Amino acid sequence: MRATFDVVKRLAIQSTKKEEMIDITADVRRIVRESGVLRGICYLYVPHTTAAITVNENTDPNVKLDIIAQLEKAVPREGKYRHAEGNAAAHIKSSIIGSSQAIFIENGKLVLGTWQAIFLCEFDGPRSRNILVKVT
Ligand code: ZN
Repeated sequence: MRATFDVVKRLAIQSTKKEEMIDITADVRRIVRESGVLRGICYLYVPHTTAAITVNENTDPNVKLDIIAQLEKAVPREGKYRHAEGNAAAHIKSSIIGSSQAIFIENGKLVLGTWQAIFLCEFDGPRSRNILVKVT
């Protein structure tokens, strides 16, 4: 028997800074648990153009600070951009990081490495953000 759970869940997150990485692992684990799926895939999708999603270390908080700082070095907020809205750098950073992740599920649990966590990456906050989650 294979559990099916075809509903797309919406995870609402409020960012509080201009740029930050928010650990959403516990929320995603809860959705996977509630789905009842024992073996499958959890798809995560961010329907925004200035936010992204990544998997990285959550043990040392300096890792996320380094990621944000080095992205800022590569794509500074202030610069000669054509996009007149003033958030061109946020668009570019979100494209570099990407808008989706797929994580395996085994024995009803997300298959993540010991040091891995799932982060929503905010590049133009603070804002209300949504993450679409599909467990299949
Ligand atoms: Zn824009």
